[in-house]
Amino acid sequence: MKYLRENIQSMVGYVPGEQPQDGVYIKLNTNENPYPPSPKIKEFLINNFDYEKLRLYPDPVFFSLRKKISEVYSINKENIFVGNGSDEVLTVITRCFVDSNDIIALPYPSYSLYEVLSAIQGCKNIKINFDENYDLSVEEVVSSKAKIFFIANPNSPSGTVLKKEKIEEIIKKFDGIVVVDEAYADFADYSCSSLVNKYDNLIVTRTLSKSFSLAGIRIGYAFASKKIIDAMFKVKDSYNLNMLSQKIAELAFDDMFYMKKNVEEIKKIRTFTVDGLKSMGFKIFPSQANFLFASHDIINGDLLYKILKDRGFLVRYFDDKRLRHGIRITIGKKEDMEGFLNVTREIINKA
Ligand SMILES: *Cc1c(COP(=O)(O)O)cnc(C)c1O
Repeated sequence: MKYLRENIQSMVGYVPGEQPQDGVYIKLNTNENPYPPSPKIKEFLINNFDYEKLRLYPDPVFFSLRKKISEVYSINKENIFVGNGSDEVLTVITRCFVDSNDIIALPYPSYSLYEVLSAIQGCKNIKINFDENYDLSVEEVVSSKAKIFFIANPNSPSGTVLKKEKIEEIIKKFDGIVVVDEAYADFADYSCSSLVNKYDNLIVTRTLSKSFSLAGIRIGYAFASKKIIDAMFKVKDSYNLNMLSQKIAELAFDDMFYMKKNVEEIKKIRTFTVDGLKSMGFKIFPSQANFLFASHDIINGDLLYKILKDRGFLVRYFDDKRLRHGIRITIGKKEDMEGFLNVTREIINKA
């Protein structure tokens, strides 16, 4: 199509994990939470929502939601942005800081959206390779001369984390914006959110999609210095958060105990799943997220994915040179993981 921008013509769009709408699979492929969201949300949706309000526009600056987030995290309201999923937050960040002459630095292998965002923006990107232990070189990030460095921590699909000192070293030495994508931080041993008060080139992004069981309402948020947050408000769509999502998000933050309880349960099931897979000879990177990247010498990821799908378990396979030997498995309910381990054991024994 001759009217298209050249970069859009030539780019490959983001490919989300499969979202079958028929419900016949046990879904272990897109890191959703197996537990329902807080019962306070159910109560609200059934009994307390005045549908006539839908006639009005939602709050464009989500005052009440930001106030709630500020209380939960003890961070000033002026340091908080909220987007339509953290994917929108990442888009807004890219539009704030990068034009077509600039560079984005991104780790590899990691969340593939970062590369898609750089392609949409029409800028260059530099890949910073994780080594075989999922560590990376600070020097490489610093010398990239990039405007933004995106780092998912915990990383996907490996589930690994960098040492906190290493992230802080990058923030100190890198002459650009460091975006720490903490989509999975609630499942991890530490977060970088407290560093936001210390460094004005740091943005930490979070989401309600994983730990809070709310992927369906599309709410992500970010912590950063006031100057960055002010810029992000200029760039976002004027009504980027719908009324229902704002309200449901507030209720989720009112029930932090419920989220934390589910996270603790998932961490226990994560250990149970790791033990089961290791006893079959799988290699697994140490995960601080709600998923595992697992590989086995006698079967490649593609085949394992296909057989598991035939048997009713949907996992994620990435057709990529550093990832095709394995699969990414979301941690589900205990009984789902028991079923998954049983089927996987049969597959390995036959392979
Ligand atoms: C799931 C995920 C996101 C996106 O979260 P949404 O808030 O649902 O858009 C961002 N980053 C990483 C690394 C993720 O895995």
